[in-house]
Amino acid sequence: MTNYNNLKSLGVFIDHNDDSIKSVFKSTNGGVIEMTLINNKSYDVLCVPTHHFCNLGCKMCHLTNNKLNKCMEPIESTEFIEAVLKSVCNQNPEKNYDRRTNKKDLLISFMGVGEPLLNQSLIKQVFENENVIKYLLHYNNISYAVATMLPSGELFEKFTKMINENNIPLKVHFSLHNPDDNQRFEIIPSSSIKICDALKLLKIYANTLQNNKHIMQNYNLFHRNSIPIEIHYTLIKDVNDGENELSKMLMLLSRYSIPIKFLTFNPKEDMQISDNQSHWISTIKTELPSLVVKTYSPPGKQIGSSCGEFTKHYYHMEIETAEELNEFLTWENQHKINY
Ligand code: SF4
Repeated sequence: MTNYNNLKSLGVFIDHNDDSIKSVFKSTNGGVIEMTLINNKSYDVLCVPTHHFCNLGCKMCHLTNNKLNKCMEPIESTEFIEAVLKSVCNQNPEKNYDRRTNKKDLLISFMGVGEPLLNQSLIKQVFENENVIKYLLHYNNISYAVATMLPSGELFEKFTKMINENNIPLKVHFSLHNPDDNQRFEIIPSSSIKICDALKLLKIYANTLQNNKHIMQNYNLFHRNSIPIEIHYTLIKDVNDGENELSKMLMLLSRYSIPIKFLTFNPKEDMQISDNQSHWISTIKTELPSLVVKTYSPPGKQIGSSCGEFTKHYYHMEIETAEELNEFLTWENQHKINY
């Protein structure tokens, strides 16, 4: 029998606007695991990491920091499953760890710390243990999603094969963020793939899954359309929001016809939210009326739970200034809940 009692809780935090709940744990090797349960209408969404830290250096990410001499440490599956079990439950042992919600289905969304394609064995092992999660948490169905920068074509081909062979219902969200190869390499320096190659591989992924009826049966329980791929784009003022980028984006979208979602940017130092989002969306909708175009303001804003945010204190302690520590303590005081 697996022992799910290895993690130490570092705190449970609530977003008072939308009731998202973040649980933070320390693993036996000292690594951090933070997961956020998002309050969603139809099913529970748990935003999860694949690594204890990430040093891949995406310019718009709040976690990455070149003053830190830390490496990416993949999360091991037993501790990951323990964190899943605890993150969707009230963590009061006296209340028998009751689930916080009564939804029937769960989406495990690998959009937290790390790059999912660099810890593919974790995704496979979580899927292999899906029945344990379903049994202990009383869920009927579980589906999966990843957000990936696509570090390389080779890794994504391996991923497609693994997902298909194991019949894992998993949607891929491709973090594009710039339609120009050179500019994208600048803001996402750890991705070596050219954009056209990435989009071709995404289409192959979509076709592969659409031809797998085991996958699509479960996938369709969670999603409105049967397209298991999507482009993510965060418009950042004067970085990727110009007319030039818009016309390149139109060209790519008309050639590959992949749904696109615009995520609201969480400002960072000298990077600010673009004012051009409505212009981009109306132009794309006019030029490509049949394309699925969505906007998304990630939930859990007060508790830093969306992709590229996170509670920096737990990762940056070594280099934290007194001012940053005070900021964290104020935040902790406002959002920490008992269980
Ligand atoms: S955005 Fe994701 S992959 Fe990029 S540095 Fe941050 S955690 Fe790592």
